[in-house]
Amino acid sequence: MRLIFLGPPGAGKGTQSQMLAGRLGIPQVSTGDILRQAVANKTELGALAKSYMDSGGLVPDEVIVGIVSERIKSVDCSAGYILDGFPRTVRQAEKLDEALRSNGSIIDAVLNIVVDEEQLVSRLSGRRVCSECQRAFHLETNPPRKPDVCDGCGSQLVVRADDESATVRKRLEVYRTQTAPLVSYYERQSLLRNIEGVGEISEISARIDSALSR
Ligand code: AMP
Repeated sequence: MRLIFLGPPGAGKGTQSQMLAGRLGIPQVSTGDILRQAVANKTELGALAKSYMDSGGLVPDEVIVGIVSERIKSVDCSAGYILDGFPRTVRQAEKLDEALRSNGSIIDAVLNIVVDEEQLVSRLSGRRVCSECQRAFHLETNPPRKPDVCDGCGSQLVVRADDESATVRKRLEVYRTQTAPLVSYYERQSLLRNIEGVGEISEISARIDSALSR
């Protein structure tokens, strides 16, 4: 299974793709997590990505395409993978198609999580992430067992720098102008499955499973 999660920031792609990856036993490849890790480790990639991320813009296509192309060649991706946060532009999608064609593989489905914009803003403001393992929580809909502490690894939960309100507006605008055109891109390839993204986390997971079994 090679899957892509599409949807605006705050739609729940990270949470759902992580859970689905666990159910299917394949890795979740999150470009946002890869970049945040690079920033935390102060690598060359991190230094380059930081200013784009902090302003709510996108890291240049050629940088991100290079990272993903390498990552999906890893041995743990041989039985499949779930892309979360990539592609984000039509150019990235075209480059991914080229890379897949050259090694004879295809994308099986694109799961598009649909949530209206008002909901997204309120979701992003309550979001907390683990400073170590990146696991996502939400103060109202998915709270940690102990306040500000990750259920998984016990590290401190933090607000992502790019979840501050001005940056959120900018990220939503970037989504509308640069990422939303991918909906029709994948619709034309008959790969798109729309998933209603409002409701309990378990309900949304069930919708994803049923969309995949269709
Ligand atoms: P995310 O965690 O997916 O919301 O990504 C956080 C930030 O990382 C984005 O706002 C971008 O600055 C950057 N980023 C993540 N994935 C991509 C991508 N595919 N292309 C360009 N920038 C990306």
